[in-house]
Amino acid sequence: MPGKPDIPMHKQISLKNKIIFIVAGFIFVFGLSALVFVFFSAQVGFNSLRQEDVKTNIVAQTRDIDRVFMQVDRVVAHIAEQEDIMRYLQGAPRPQDAAIIAMLMHHNAEQMFDPLYILDRTGVVVASLDPALTGNNYGFRNYAVAALRGESAVKFVIDATVGAPGYYVSRPVIARDGAILGVVVGKISANLVEGVIMDSALGRGHMMIIDRDGIIVYTDRNGWLYHTIGALSDKDRARIAAEKSFSDLPLTSLPYDPVLDAIRNQSASPVAFDLFDSVDRDTKLFVVSAISNTGLFFVFEEGTQALAAPLLRIVVILSIVILLAMLFAILFTYLTVNRFLSPLARLKLAVANMRAGNFDEQVQIHTGDELEDVGEQFNAMAGRLKSSYADLERTVAEKTNQLSVKLADIEHKNVEMRDTQRAILNVLEDSRVLEMQLQEERNRLQEILSSMGEGLFVVGRDLRIVLINPIATRILGIGADALKGAFLPDIINLYKGKNKVSEGDRFLYRVVNDGATISVDSKDDFYWEVRGGRRFALGLVAAPISEKGFAGAVVIFRDLTREKNLDDAQASFISITSHQLRTPLTSIKWFLEMLMDGDYADPLTAKQREFVDLAYQAGGKMTGIINLLLQIARVESGRLKIVPVPTDLKQLTEIIVASFGNALALRKQTVTIRTIPESLPAIPVDVDVIEQVIQNLLSNANRYANENSEIVVSIEAGRIERGREVITYAVADQGIGISKEAADRIFEKFYRADNALRAVPEGSGLGLSLVKTLVEGWGGTIWFESEESKGTTFFFTIPIEGMLPHAGEVGIKVA
Ligand code: ADP
Repeated sequence: MPGKPDIPMHKQISLKNKIIFIVAGFIFVFGLSALVFVFFSAQVGFNSLRQEDVKTNIVAQTRDIDRVFMQVDRVVAHIAEQEDIMRYLQGAPRPQDAAIIAMLMHHNAEQMFDPLYILDRTGVVVASLDPALTGNNYGFRNYAVAALRGESAVKFVIDATVGAPGYYVSRPVIARDGAILGVVVGKISANLVEGVIMDSALGRGHMMIIDRDGIIVYTDRNGWLYHTIGALSDKDRARIAAEKSFSDLPLTSLPYDPVLDAIRNQSASPVAFDLFDSVDRDTKLFVVSAISNTGLFFVFEEGTQALAAPLLRIVVILSIVILLAMLFAILFTYLTVNRFLSPLARLKLAVANMRAGNFDEQVQIHTGDELEDVGEQFNAMAGRLKSSYADLERTVAEKTNQLSVKLADIEHKNVEMRDTQRAILNVLEDSRVLEMQLQEERNRLQEILSSMGEGLFVVGRDLRIVLINPIATRILGIGADALKGAFLPDIINLYKGKNKVSEGDRFLYRVVNDGATISVDSKDDFYWEVRGGRRFALGLVAAPISEKGFAGAVVIFRDLTREKNLDDAQASFISITSHQLRTPLTSIKWFLEMLMDGDYADPLTAKQREFVDLAYQAGGKMTGIINLLLQIARVESGRLKIVPVPTDLKQLTEIIVASFGNALALRKQTVTIRTIPESLPAIPVDVDVIEQVIQNLLSNANRYANENSEIVVSIEAGRIERGREVITYAVADQGIGISKEAADRIFEKFYRADNALRAVPEGSGLGLSLVKTLVEGWGGTIWFESEESKGTTFFFTIPIEGMLPHAGEVGIKVA
């Protein structure tokens, strides 16, 4: 949609300003460097120019001074050569001779001297333009001493005649014969020297005349006169004091040692150098030039600050020029850049329009250069963009449609996902509840385990203890920590009676390997001996934990020592009492028999006979009971002797059945004996023991079966019990049966079921107890199947190998 063009605002500096800044900066830096360069190179050039200039002027100046001094010398020499003077000095010269004074005045017409005078050969002033000097003896003066010796070389001497030092020129007056007649002395007028010096083209700066010792003898600087230009050594000072007549002056030293050095070096041409003046705090130009033959030096001194002034003027002018150039350059750049950049601004506006969606506007650039090309390219691009923008809008509309369909789909899936999430949360909640229930169960189980009266532990297949309850640790007398994970045979030894059971025979192996359930009670006579600890009679139930095979076993056990002791006491009580009862009973039976026979008394009446007969029968029953008790006691005490003999069980059964002949006939019962298979192998058994068992079962069948019924005895081989083959012996009757309530107690001593009590009043309830003890004693099992009022079948088993021999003291048969 075309709208108001959105021109981007640049916070940064515009291209135009950048170019101007760059150009101005460049001019500024370049101009400044040029200025600095010009300043320094001008200063160097200016300095050397100035030095040359000064040197040239000094040479001229020196020559002027030189010329003055030469002229003065020539005048003095001319006077000394005058005949009149020679004549005047021969003999005794008249002081202030008018003709001589006139001549002296004539030669001093130009006022070169102040004063001009003549000494006689003794050094006394005889004629002087300053009459005050006449009569003074100056023979000792420096300028006089040499001249009086005839030396004409003595020329410019600085000496003090009138109290102030001055330039003295002296010439000896020598007669034709060579005699020294006197001396002409002229003190050069200070005005003359000053006039020459001041007439210099040097302009600014200071001028000095310095002698070869460094003493300033002329200066235009206040207070510097008779100072030394540099520092003097003590030796030099002493020498000067001896030589000069103004030795009383203090000769203060100025700090310009390089100037003094230049003087001492005595260069022919002028020497110029810069020197920092610590007095004026300015760098100064010094020029030293020797005044020929005079032993004096002309020194010019000028401050460089003064020199810099014209230079500064040049620099200021240059700066203004550069500044103007800069301004002009900036203006020029501004105009040019403006001109070049205006098409760009137009392009920028067009781009902004395009951004706002206006593709119709064409950019107009007619510069005839690359920018015009760019403008044309831009217009072409706008055209293309316009068509592709329309395409794009169409595609976007389509995609938007598709997306909204997808969005609806996603929304729908979201709702589904939320439902799923809620369902998962519910499941999680349920599982939390389940977990809590499980935890409760676990706690309850834990409580049960802890509160159980029996010891309990769980072993894995490897017979290592995985769980144990507190009572078990108490019975075993070992802490739970030591028991957990322990290998059971490492902790406990198993004994059968007094014999240690070898590890492989231990019944827990049968539980974990074969899945057998094992129960052991006091009669089994097993003992556990805890390693290094106590030994106790074992009551135990061990059951496999089956989970994909046998995972281990749960073992519940008790310490039966007390029960065992009680059983033992009971057995020995029974045994002792039975023995004790049997003897008197035999006597009673014997006397009753005697009574019945009437051997020792009168024949009995019929009534008496009936009573004695009843007493005798009761005695017989009692003997039977006592015998059974005795047999049970024998078995339980472990004193029973077992002597296995290979026996045909069928044959044996037939013999026993035959012994029941009367009893069976009385109740009109038949006995059928069956063997499966037909012929059975002979089994090694103790005949008395097995006979006792078969007899008891047949007797019960006979008594509890109906009259006219059939008793079936079946002997079957080939059954497997606890991993080994057994013979199964069964006695089936059709009689009163055994009720469900009675079933559990049938093998208890003295127990008789109600229906049995009603049907058969006589009975002890001891027979089955003895049978069970005997069967289990040889390693067999006994059980029954019954239906009340229908019949009962008792089964027992014998291992196919038969009974194991046992060396006991007594047989099962009671005599
Ligand atoms: P007794 O037979 O002297 O009572 P037992 O020990 O032989 O003693 O038998 C115990 C009890 O078992 C019997 O009193 C009877 O109740 C029951 N019993 C034994 N054999 C049978 C059988 N064949 N039919 C029904 N009940 C029987």
